[in-house]
Amino acid sequence: MSDADRPTNFVEEIVLNDIEEGKNQGRLMTRFPPEPNGYLHIGHAKSICLNFGLAQKLGGQCNLRLDDTNPSKEETEYVESIKTDVQWLGFSWGEGLYFASDYFDRLYDMAVDLVKQGKAYVDSLSAEQIREYRGDFHKPGRPSPYRDRSIEDNLSLLEKMKGGEFKEGEHVLRAKIDMGSANLNFRDPAMYRILHAHHHRTGDDWCIYPMYDFAHGLSDAIEGVTHSICTLEFEDHRPLYDWFLENLGFESTQRPHQYEFSRLNLTYTVMSKRKLQHLVSEGHVEGWDDPRMPTIAGLRRRGYPAEAIRNFCERIGVTKNYGVVDVGHLEHAVRECLNQSSPRLMAVLKPLKVTITNFPEGHVETFDAPLYPSDDSFGSRSLHLTKEIYIERDDFKEDAPKKWFRLCPGKEVRLRYACLITCEEVIKDSEGEVIELRCTWDPESKGGTAADGRKVKGTLHWVSASKGVSTEVKLYDRLFNEMTPGKDKESFLEDLNPSSLEVLSEVVCEPHLMNTQAGDTVQFERLGYFTADIKSSNQGSPIFHRTITLKDSWAKIAKR
Ligand code: ATP
Ligand code: MG
Repeated sequence: MSDADRPTNFVEEIVLNDIEEGKNQGRLMTRFPPEPNGYLHIGHAKSICLNFGLAQKLGGQCNLRLDDTNPSKEETEYVESIKTDVQWLGFSWGEGLYFASDYFDRLYDMAVDLVKQGKAYVDSLSAEQIREYRGDFHKPGRPSPYRDRSIEDNLSLLEKMKGGEFKEGEHVLRAKIDMGSANLNFRDPAMYRILHAHHHRTGDDWCIYPMYDFAHGLSDAIEGVTHSICTLEFEDHRPLYDWFLENLGFESTQRPHQYEFSRLNLTYTVMSKRKLQHLVSEGHVEGWDDPRMPTIAGLRRRGYPAEAIRNFCERIGVTKNYGVVDVGHLEHAVRECLNQSSPRLMAVLKPLKVTITNFPEGHVETFDAPLYPSDDSFGSRSLHLTKEIYIERDDFKEDAPKKWFRLCPGKEVRLRYACLITCEEVIKDSEGEVIELRCTWDPESKGGTAADGRKVKGTLHWVSASKGVSTEVKLYDRLFNEMTPGKDKESFLEDLNPSSLEVLSEVVCEPHLMNTQAGDTVQFERLGYFTADIKSSNQGSPIFHRTITLKDSWAKIAKR
């Protein structure tokens, strides 16, 4: 077995064993079953990479099944976004695109089957009474007074439920299992409830809808899924998953099996769809695809490469252990990919004007600068040095500390790819704010090295004032400034980072940046990776936002 073939996690090990032993005739079928009630997030990516990844690696099939059993919450927009996101992550469901609603007829027939076997009944207690009768971990359940209805009565009531003769909450169909079971899921779980709601695919055909526990395993079985992989909170549901299959005649050798792994939790991130929905509906972010959101759509718009997300999911592994992963690992994977793929260009975010006093008026010096400094073969662009240029405001200090390698009065620095300049004079406005530097250049230092061999340590990025293009840039930062948003607080909203978005309106960038296509990411030298926003960029006028800084600036803060 080569290293590439070796199982990388316990689920893969189980699957490989099953294939080897010829279980399911050697077939492998997994599925990814999101509920279309929101956009997918980075946690879903873990499940997608596991389910689709296994099928891809081991020659199986992974279905995409939209679990649309809850009509009041689901919308077509979410279905479309889920399909887009799975494909963008690099996976394909082939012919296997399904909806739980495809099976509504068959599921209903199976429910009738259970009623006929005396294994399901229509209960007429209220939701509150059902809860009370169910008991809890310490208290055994009590049977509903309707538990022993005759099969005929149950069939007729179920038929009427389906026919729309009752109001919501009047009746539910429950499996008749064991009210005394230590496993609460076994205390006669609900199979169908009445919901007079319009469904995005079946319209008004149904007014009863199956519950997750009933629909899920049976949908798996109908599709021929072999390994039904889900997160650990469903571990206690597994006996119920098996109970439905067993009692509806699925042979033990033909049945799907459920396996559980621990869900992904990330620091500085919320991942429940309910919370993400709240951020969107209350306007704390621009939408589900706001670049600060941990949704796949948000991360994509932010400029995170799909490959980085896949690498991250591969590295965090699949286990049964509870854990919280440092978001720095995701950011590291992003930097690693972008470092390989992004051309380097120059932009000045907070400009400070520099006049080169001994530079001839109207003169332009042109320098050739590689787009990928580590490899010239990827081409270059021209940089234009003019009498007036901009440097970064933060690259100048009047009272500089000892080891200041950037500009200060009297100091010489290199302009990247161009020449050496020395700061001769500082111009201030009436408030004492530095508004301009007057420098001289060494015409013998073209390209950035002094003819006499003197060493100059500092190198600054810069842009020509007359050739540069003005633009606006958004700087995004983490959406929350606490590791566990909402911990010991009333609401997770209290931990929103108030400076997660900074808009810089005076940015100047080199003209070549205007060739960037929407969705492409480049490195602004010394400043980070920036992506031309898919939504707001137009042909020839990209609007950039920062995808990520060059280094983990939060790590420094944590260490302080
Ligand atoms: P949420 O709790 O965020 O609302 P969910 O579990 O209700 O998520 P579903 O649409 O039901 O969302 O999830 C589809 C699949 O994705 C499920 O199999 C679920 O186990 C998996 N999944 C959801 N969140 C995570 C996560 N954080 N880590 C790994 N897998 C996840
Ligand atoms: Mg769910």
